[in-house]
Parts: sequence; structure tokens; C-alpha cells
Amino acid sequence: MQSKIFKSYEKSIHFLNEAKELKTQLKHMDAIIALNKSLCYSVSDSQLSMAFAERAKIFYDLKKYKECQENLKWAKSHGNNNTELAHFETACINQLKSLDINENDKPWNFFKLSPPLNKKLPFISDCLKLHESFKYGRYIKTNRPLHTGEVIAIEEPLFKMPNKDVRYKRCSNCLKSNQMNLLPCSQQKCVSTMYCSIECMQLGWKRYHKYECSFLEESLENNEYDLMIQRIIFETLDMFDGNIEKLKTLLSETKDNQSIYDFDLSNKNDIENKKLRLKSIYALKRGKCSEEDKAMADWFVESDSTLKHLCKTKAQQDFLKNFILRMMGIMDRNSYIFYSLASVFSEKDEEIGTGLFSFASLLNHSCSPNLYRFFVDNKQIYVVKKPIEAGQQLFVGYLSNFTLCEREKRQADLFQDFSFHCTCDACVQNFPLMKDLKRCDENFKEELPTLSRYSISDAKKIYEYNCKYIETNINKFPFPCYEICFLMQSSFRLLHFIANKPFLPE
Ligand SMILES: [Zn+2]
Ligand SMILES: [Zn+2]
Ligand SMILES: [Zn+2]
Repeated sequence: MQSKIFKSYEKSIHFLNEAKELKTQLKHMDAIIALNKSLCYSVSDSQLSMAFAERAKIFYDLKKYKECQENLKWAKSHGNNNTELAHFETACINQLKSLDINENDKPWNFFKLSPPLNKKLPFISDCLKLHESFKYGRYIKTNRPLHTGEVIAIEEPLFKMPNKDVRYKRCSNCLKSNQMNLLPCSQQKCVSTMYCSIECMQLGWKRYHKYECSFLEESLENNEYDLMIQRIIFETLDMFDGNIEKLKTLLSETKDNQSIYDFDLSNKNDIENKKLRLKSIYALKRGKCSEEDKAMADWFVESDSTLKHLCKTKAQQDFLKNFILRMMGIMDRNSYIFYSLASVFSEKDEEIGTGLFSFASLLNHSCSPNLYRFFVDNKQIYVVKKPIEAGQQLFVGYLSNFTLCEREKRQADLFQDFSFHCTCDACVQNFPLMKDLKRCDENFKEELPTLSRYSISDAKKIYEYNCKYIETNINKFPFPCYEICFLMQSSFRLLHFIANKPFLPE
């Protein structure tokens, strides 16, 4: 696999000009994307410095003075001595002096795990206990009552991969958008890998990018699923410094009945933690593999030059093929899609990438789940949606909620994607759609938050009001009632907004 795609002087110039044009039309976000492409295709310091300088100007227009300063610095370090830039630099310093940057708006100041925490798994609350039954398989219950709005887990995936269409918008390593203030991979055959920081660039290179950089552009013609598999193989091999025997030994110690609850992740050693999480993922339930999957695993092991080099024997090749097949089956049943709000104006979701999670994979589905799940950067957060009694099971929604989609369609979709027949409350009692729900509160003021008008602190206030309303009225009105479901829908949008306020001109 050798790439025919290269960095190119002409293309870099083309995107630079495109960005200038978009800027005059006030399409700032599109202009930054064009500049990110220009950076990725640039072949010289002078091209890099021009693109950084242009990006600095756009950030200035958007009143993002810190980002502007950073780009000015990069433009300079690549040789730009334009006196015009000095003017922007002074202006930034003055603006930043007068600007009151609101640290409270940072999502991690808002989303805090509910104590006490699990001692071995410090990313979940201690009340979450693992159970097993014939009907549910492995599942999670709470051993104490939970209140609306409690954050009970914040989990980072072991493996993640950004989608193809966010490659100029998000860090390839950590998936953060960083206001699209990204740095390009400098390698000749790499034109769409960007990072939010030098640190991510180095980590990404070490963990997987050194294996994929020279042929990634060609691989990008594959589907998202194949790309994720490729990332999983490289990241796994890197945990063992490319030593297949070591990987084999670790996995041979893994038993199917193990889960993340069998391991102690309180130790801060990143690599040791990753190996334990790999074991817990390897023990997850998996779907069946098709002939096509087998052919893909064979092809990958036999044609990829890195893997050919790492596999010293036929036995090692066979082991790796089986490992890939098993991970495909695991992905099939357990992967989660990362979402974010695409923009404040459209209120549509944007798919950012795919992730594989040890803890999340133990949560069952309900079409009327009692947890919200959403993402901050690359971490999935689980928040209590309505009061949950001690001893009750926790559910997330894999696919559509009952308020938005008819039962027949929901069940067909779940069966197709996850091969199970849903027996949640909403399915058994056939809850009505949102529009047909019974109204119980004549004083209820219905206003779906129009997020474009909100500040983060407005959003938090409304969200807190919603939580209180749900908490006090859940037992007064028979569930599902219109008011509570309406506020749940509103809260979900607000949580997304607080978690990941879309980057837009302010
Ligand atoms: Zn990053
Ligand atoms: Zn690269
Ligand atoms: Zn259901």
C-alpha cells in the first residue's frame, strides 16, 4: 500500500485563495477549514507561514485573541516577518487585557462525578454495580437512589477514530475541535491528519500514526469501520512495542466472563491501564463475522507492510488475523458513535467518530433510558435523566427514543444493528410518540431552548430548572407525560450545548 497522494504547492495556494475569498463572504468557519487544508498541503515554510498568518486574521475577526496570538507565533516561526502582523499582535495583547475570560464556561467545571467514586475504577461512581442474568446478560444497577442530573460516569474510550469528514476540523489523536486551531502532520504523503497540539502530534505519531502515515490517504477511501479496525490494530501493537508474542500472552490470560470490574485501574501508569482495558474489551460480547470480514482480515495482515514486518511466523500471522476478526465482532456490538451539535443554528447533530468503551459496553439499551449520554472532547458522560431507585437497572439509548420513533421501526432497527428484540417499558407498553403524549400540567410553559441565543450560563440555569421540575413531578404525573418528556428532550440539547458549545462567530 503506497500513497499516490502528496503535499502540493498548487493545492496549498488554491486553498489559501479559497480561504481569502470565503473570508470576504464572512464564512469564517469554512475559511478556517480551507486554511487547514492549505496547511496540510503546504510544501514549504513560506506556505505554512502564509496560512498561519491568514488563520490568525480570521481568529482576530472572531475575537479569539488567544488563538490569533498562537497563529501569529507559528507564522513567525516559519519565517513570516510581515509588519502587518505586528499590528495584530499589539491589538491582541490589548484586547486580552480588557477581556474577562469566563473560566466557568469550561465544561469540566460543570460536569463533576458524583462521589464517592469506585476505588478501582475512579471514572465511575461507586454506586454502580455489575450484575448478570439470563435475560439481560451483564448489566449495571445502582445500589443507592440517584437524582436527576447526577453525573455517574465519565469514560474515555480505549480506541477511537475520527470520521473522515471531520479531519480538517478535529484533532486526529484526541478528537478535540480546539476551535479548529489545528497543526498539520509534516510528512510528505499525509494531507489530512491534524492535531490540536504538539503533544497530541507526538502521542499520535508514537501510538499509531508512524505505521499508517505513508498510506493513510489511500486507506481513507475505505469505510469508517475499516479505518477504526486499522487504528485498533496499530494502537494495540504499540502497547506491546510491536511484539506479537507479548500481545498473545496477555490475551491468552483473558477470560470471556471478565469485565472492567475485574481490574484495578487506579494505578496511573497509562500503558498498564490500557492493557487492562484491552483485556476487558477483548472479553466483551461479539457479533458474528462474515466471509467479507475474514477476507478483509486476511488481506490486511498479508498486504500491510508494517504487519508483514511484525509477523515473523505463519502462526503469528494467523493469530493476528483471528485477533482482527474478534475485534471486528466486538466493534459490531459495542462501538459508540461520538456526536456533537453541528452548529448552534441548525441544531443538528454531527457524527465525529467511533469509540470502543469498556464500561459503556455493560449498559443495556432502553427506548426510554434513564441516563443521558453525550461527549465532552473524547470522553463519554453519563447523566441521570430521572430519579432512579436503589436496585434499579441503568439504561442508555443505543438508537432512537420512543418519543421520536414508532415502536415497529425502533424494534426493526435494533434487531438489525444489535440482533435483539427490545422488551423495554416503552416497547412493552407501547408508549405514544411525543406529539400524542398526555399533558398533565396546565401551567407548563413550553419553550424549546433556541440555543443560538444562549450563553453557557443561561443554558445551565434552564437545565437546572428542568432537573428540578422532573425530580418533583415524576411521581405526580403518570409516566410518560408530555411535560417531563419535553423537558428531557430540552435537557439533552442543553447538555450537548454545555458540553461542546459549537464554535461560531460571537
Ligand atoms: Zn489533540
Ligand atoms: Zn502523517
Ligand atoms: Zn424498546
